[in-house]
Amino acid sequence: MNIVVLSRNAKLYSTQRLIEAIEQRGHKGTVIDHLKCDIVMDDEGPSIFYAGKKLTGIDAIIPRIGSSVTFYGAAVVRQFEMMKVFSTLDSLALTRSRDKLRSLQILSREGIRMPKTAFTNFSKEDNKILTHVGEAPLVIKLLEGTQGVGVVLAETNKAAKSVVQAFDSLKTRVILQEFIEEAGGADIRAFIVNGKVVGAMKRQGKEGDFRSNLHQGGNASLIKLSREEKSTALKAAKSMGLAVSGVDMLQSKRGPMVLEVNSSPGLEGIEKATKVDIAGKIVEYIEIAAKTKRTPKVKA
Ligand code: ADP
Ligand code: GLU
Repeated sequence: MNIVVLSRNAKLYSTQRLIEAIEQRGHKGTVIDHLKCDIVMDDEGPSIFYAGKKLTGIDAIIPRIGSSVTFYGAAVVRQFEMMKVFSTLDSLALTRSRDKLRSLQILSREGIRMPKTAFTNFSKEDNKILTHVGEAPLVIKLLEGTQGVGVVLAETNKAAKSVVQAFDSLKTRVILQEFIEEAGGADIRAFIVNGKVVGAMKRQGKEGDFRSNLHQGGNASLIKLSREEKSTALKAAKSMGLAVSGVDMLQSKRGPMVLEVNSSPGLEGIEKATKVDIAGKIVEYIEIAAKTKRTPKVKA
């Protein structure tokens, strides 16, 4: 098969590993920068031009879309879908997963456990929203934040109120969340491919940080998930319509709580922690999907 990895940088670990896995399994792999794709539409149907040439003969794409280019990236993925090219990432699931609020709304509807979360319009009555999630300590998150940037722990109600007021005055939207203290600055990431957990790791934040993001200096180790953690992660991925995803969860007294579901999860941390060939699992998923001519089922 002719498989394209949509990535802005061929040198990234995840991109390199995917190309390696594609070739190891006997296919042809090419990296295409989605930002350099032109989307063309007319009555002869949808097409994509790359470096001045019309793309043809592609069997499948593996999109690796960074969160700063979701809009254009999703448009390119959608165009491939319109051209009947199989994608490991559905364009609607991509845009859905990039919207923190919309994702939490869907997860909540599906009855998936999560830290209690509240969102309100900019308001002079900040006291009111604080009551929805209970007393401080509280976590305040920028709606547009990623990789742990813009996630703040407010230790007192007074601090929470002033942080919310500060963001409001900047017209920056935030969500408020109950703080899961017993998670101890760690979270777990379940990597899911085609309805199976193919690897899991625990990420521990650096000393004194309640955020466990590797980008914030956290470190990762192999972990065996409990049955409940597995089923929670699988349900979360499914409700988002993602065939390949990284589900982040906190271990709480009430059981696993989903924080978010990532649609372009990195391979480096998880492959190094688990020693599993995750890139190979993704390519294998394409082979299975190609055989059964099945397009991933996504809720409309
Ligand atoms: P981002 O999308 O920027 O990574 P997250 O919502 O995943 O933001 O938060 C970053 C990290 O902060 C998480 O991985 C987790 O370790 C910690 N964290 C986030 N929310 C909570 C919470 N409600 N209670 C305890 N820790 C949290
Ligand atoms: N119909 C889908 C759902 O309710 C998509 C909604 C959305 O992504 O906004 O799960």
